[in-house]
Amino acid sequence: MMPAERCASMRYGYIGLGHLGGHLAASLLRAGYPVTVHDLDRSLADRHFAMGASWADSVEELAAASDAVFTCLPSPAVSERVLAGPQGILAGMKPGGCWIEMSTLGRDDIRALGALALASRISVLESPVTGGVHRAATGDITILAGGDKAVFERHRPALQAMGGEIFHMGPLGSASVIKVITNMLAFIHLVADGEALMLARRGGLDLAQAFHAIKASSGNSFVHETEGQLILNGSYDIGFTMDLALKDLGFAMEFGEEFRVPLALGNLTTQIFKQAQQAYGGNAWSTQVVKLLEDALQTDLRAPGFPPRLGAEAS
Ligand code: NAD
Repeated sequence: MMPAERCASMRYGYIGLGHLGGHLAASLLRAGYPVTVHDLDRSLADRHFAMGASWADSVEELAAASDAVFTCLPSPAVSERVLAGPQGILAGMKPGGCWIEMSTLGRDDIRALGALALASRISVLESPVTGGVHRAATGDITILAGGDKAVFERHRPALQAMGGEIFHMGPLGSASVIKVITNMLAFIHLVADGEALMLARRGGLDLAQAFHAIKASSGNSFVHETEGQLILNGSYDIGFTMDLALKDLGFAMEFGEEFRVPLALGNLTTQIFKQAQQAYGGNAWSTQVVKLLEDALQTDLRAPGFPPRLGAEAS
């Protein structure tokens, strides 16, 4: 919790109250900051109103009422529109304000948008996050920041209100690179975990027992510990969609070409995710990529005792 006088001195705006941003904005409010919120869907702000948030009818109005504005939006095109479009952040914000981008963007996107903001005398920070919505809900998500160190330090208390471990990675763009790298790894781990669980199932093992054995063995991963449970429950509800996964994998493949690193596993994983997007739709949970194998083999990966959502009771 922030000291009251420090909280009151910085007025934050939060745009994008979806699966991730909704929790992050709530954490800011919980820490005592005055927060103005905005989303295309006003009903997403109900929980924030109950915590004392103000509403702005437009992005421009929100920016005019804030010292710094966070965004958590689905794609670079939306971020560009919200930042630099008519009635966007730059239209409303006074020089000296700050834009803090929490969406996952490509490195070149954040650099280009950052340059636009700087040209309007608005400072910029990128702070994509990693760890999943359940950790955003508990204020424990990992934050990867990039940009001017002094700007970062100015907003560190607000970042601390939203996250657990916080890493300043370097100049603007550097956080986007590490964010995409860690997500590529997570998606590779997810496909591998599906294959591992299917081997266990078809090998006649008790799946729940196999899950716990893997968790305690050298094959364990963060993805196995978290998403593995949602696969076994059958909800697949990780709060992160197939479209968002493919956006991140696209960035990773671009880095592979640019940095001339052959990404055999990354490429194969991208192809598998594309198949899953075709089979289940872009709004399906990314964890459903494992369902491709379940459907192909007509063999499900269900076991009792696992929760429908991380942090929920087991069913
Ligand atoms: P989401 O689709 O649930 O939320 C996006 C929100 O933005 C929606 O509520 C939508 O109404 C709003 N929005 C879209 N266009 C808008 C506009 N023009 N003006 C105002 N609001 C607008 O997505 P999410 O899962 O919350 O992800 C958001 C970002 O965070 C993405 O860049 C994603 O890659 C990244 N991310 C998500 C997770 C996760 O677990 N969900 C984890 C890490 C990073």
